[in-house]
Amino acid sequence: MSKQNICELLLRKHIKKIKPYSTARDEYRGITNGAASIFLNANENPYQLQDQKYDKIVDLNRYPDPSQEILKNEISKDKGVAFDNIFLGNGSDEATDILIRMFCEPGRDSVITMPPTYGMYDVKAKINNVKTIEIPLVENENNFGVDRVNLLSTIDTEPNIKLLFICTPNNPTGSVIDKRIIFEILNSFKGFVVIDEAYIDFSESKSFISELNKFSNLIILQTMSKSWGLADLRIGVCFAKKNIVDYMNRIKPPCNIGGFAQKLAIRSIRNKRNKRVAVSGVIADRIKVIEQLQKMPIIEKVFKSQANFVFVKFNDGDLIYRYLLDNGIVVRNKSKENLCQNCLRITIGTKEENKKLLSVLQNIG
Ligand SMILES: *Cc1c(COP(=O)(O)O)cnc(C)c1O
Repeated sequence: MSKQNICELLLRKHIKKIKPYSTARDEYRGITNGAASIFLNANENPYQLQDQKYDKIVDLNRYPDPSQEILKNEISKDKGVAFDNIFLGNGSDEATDILIRMFCEPGRDSVITMPPTYGMYDVKAKINNVKTIEIPLVENENNFGVDRVNLLSTIDTEPNIKLLFICTPNNPTGSVIDKRIIFEILNSFKGFVVIDEAYIDFSESKSFISELNKFSNLIILQTMSKSWGLADLRIGVCFAKKNIVDYMNRIKPPCNIGGFAQKLAIRSIRNKRNKRVAVSGVIADRIKVIEQLQKMPIIEKVFKSQANFVFVKFNDGDLIYRYLLDNGIVVRNKSKENLCQNCLRITIGTKEENKKLLSVLQNIG
């Protein structure tokens, strides 16, 4: 079987047979090439909601474009990836869920994660009765790295591993996974390597997008929730080979992304200034926050971060977490997770928020 056909090879059998849901829009477009002006085909409400702020942006009474054509074209131009290699999900979490449902047979197959990492891979696997094999990261001087020997021997010996999730920069540690190891895995793993680049824009490392054509087992996840500042819109982006994208499109709910969200995302991509300013601001502030944290006696270690948060080991994580809460500041307490004893994940906020955080922590002594 050539590497090109890895999708057909690993796809669950019943999914091959599924015909995509045909929307009213798909059907008339096929015949008239889209020329029509009266739409009585989708049981929509004919009356536009009168809201001066929103009705200029989108006809809220109409269903959104299920193929997300304009938005995908913008993303295609922005990222230099062909339209056919782009899938859009209701957040990248939807893409993760669909990939698991496409390739993993419940009760038999498994996925690999490398904790401490994003918890959603394991949650989605569990929901689908798919086993998660954990290959924990190993703490090093600056941060955490892959347990290479353990990982390579696991993918070599365990049968039925379909997906391997690599989060880089990793949530919650902020670390970037060594590229040489990722290439080693791409070359040797018989399943799909899913690289989650949710935080890539905050890092110095290059996206794996440029490798898409070289590896048919490479799938990349990105999102508009973090660097684009559009978490509320729920737009996740998945880059993969065309046949994978085609099957993902068959599985997704037709209107998985609202028209309002699509329009706002299009506007953001056409005017990238907001994103650029926000990303460079967050990176500059991350450096300043880390500098200040490193001086504090309550802190044991500030992990090197390539994301929009910092991962910090305190002398007493639970106590600091409570203390911050008592001062109205919510951070993510990771203390109870494996390898994360006394660690909190702190998002870089606005300048004022960061200042308040630092002054509250300084007051502990
Ligand atoms: C925030 C985050 C996402 C984004 O999820 P969306 O569903 O797109 O909002 C994905 N992966 C990681 C590692 C994240 O931290």
